[in-house]
Amino acid sequence: MNILIIGSGGRESAFAYKISKSPKLSKLFIAPGNAGTGQYGENVALKVTDFKGIADFALANNIEMIVVGPEEPLVKGIHDYVLADDQLKHIAVVGPQAEGAQLEGSKDFSKEFMIRHNVPTAAFRSFDKTNLEEGLAYLDTQKLPIVLKADGLAAGKGVLICESYEDAKAELKAMISDAKFGEASNVVVVEEFLKGIELSVFVLTDGKDYKVLPSAKDYKRIGEGDTGLNTGGMGSVSPVPFADQAFLDKVEERIIKPTVDGLKKDNIPYKGFIFIGLMNVDGEPYVIEYNVRMGDPETESVLVRIESDLVDLLEGVAQGNLADRSYTVSPKTAATVVIVSGGYPGDYEGGKVISNMENVKESIVFHAGTKQDGVDVVTAGGRVLAVTALEDDLFSALQQATADAGRIFFQGKYFRTDIGFDLI
Ligand code: AMP
Repeated sequence: MNILIIGSGGRESAFAYKISKSPKLSKLFIAPGNAGTGQYGENVALKVTDFKGIADFALANNIEMIVVGPEEPLVKGIHDYVLADDQLKHIAVVGPQAEGAQLEGSKDFSKEFMIRHNVPTAAFRSFDKTNLEEGLAYLDTQKLPIVLKADGLAAGKGVLICESYEDAKAELKAMISDAKFGEASNVVVVEEFLKGIELSVFVLTDGKDYKVLPSAKDYKRIGEGDTGLNTGGMGSVSPVPFADQAFLDKVEERIIKPTVDGLKKDNIPYKGFIFIGLMNVDGEPYVIEYNVRMGDPETESVLVRIESDLVDLLEGVAQGNLADRSYTVSPKTAATVVIVSGGYPGDYEGGKVISNMENVKESIVFHAGTKQDGVDVVTAGGRVLAVTALEDDLFSALQQATADAGRIFFQGKYFRTDIGFDLI
């Protein structure tokens, strides 16, 4: 089978690594990919939202499956685009159509979905310019802190946690009246704050059945001890020690089953990944958000633990017989440490030559923001590399990934040395 992966980050590098091992693969392409994905397949210079370009390429290269990494092309309807064209519709797309992608594309849609299907989540109300005054009065009735979420996609920045009523009111006005997050904040979800520990659970579904993929925890803040600004993610571990089987059973019964059944009841076709952001509140799981794709850097830790052939599973998704596919997970622990450009998540410089990657022997180095510049591999983004170790126990995995992140060099490089050590 010829497969095309859409995306260019560490997540897509991990997909390319795993898919390249499949005996079912003939040729792998990654659009646009990065300086590292070329070792698993062929990079194709196409933007992730250039549907026409992707379609033309897919036809010319006998692509049979498109695996979509990021949310933007899904929310913008890449799967619908393929289905709507007689010449393209035989191509399997892994990732939901635009309707299902609303689970991530609209917080209001996803909250209404959870309420409709009894999925535990924080209490909420949504407001827009027609009922802003009511929204401001509603804030006064809520306990602090108050969570405000822009309804639409806001590149991971649309959630504010307000510690005072003044702050919450000013932010609600800025979001709705002054378009603080552009159109994404035309509608704002005001949500109860949940206190607990976060983790992510991943599900692969063909719309009827599902496989629960390994759970993971990611580390969002830039600084040691989980301090400082939010980033795209500085590291991850899988499995999550505090998510024991009893907790995961609750997640499956109360959240995963009602979610997959809810999509069916609502007649929303869904073939792809569901990433469920959870809060463990005193042992009880609540959904914080749905994403309609895998997480980054969780994917790097999750996929290396899946022992089965991923292409076989994805074929099961496409053909609607996922239940018949074999699925096994390694009992080992994976840890991922992300190396970023100095200054990230604020301003940073690109074009720094990366050296010493060959000194990493035990971990896998997944490229993210990298590009080829003549003979050099240079930095080309905030998150540059994701270093993933798979070991028998958590401590060994953390030690290996952290030590290996230290073996790589580029000017201004930074990584956290404490990823996962809070779990030991
Ligand atoms: P989201 O984009 O919805 O995942 O929100 C981003 C981050 O905000 C989450 O990863 C949580 O850390 C935090 N967050 C979101 N909703 C809540 C909530 N209801 N209670 C506490 N923290 C939250």
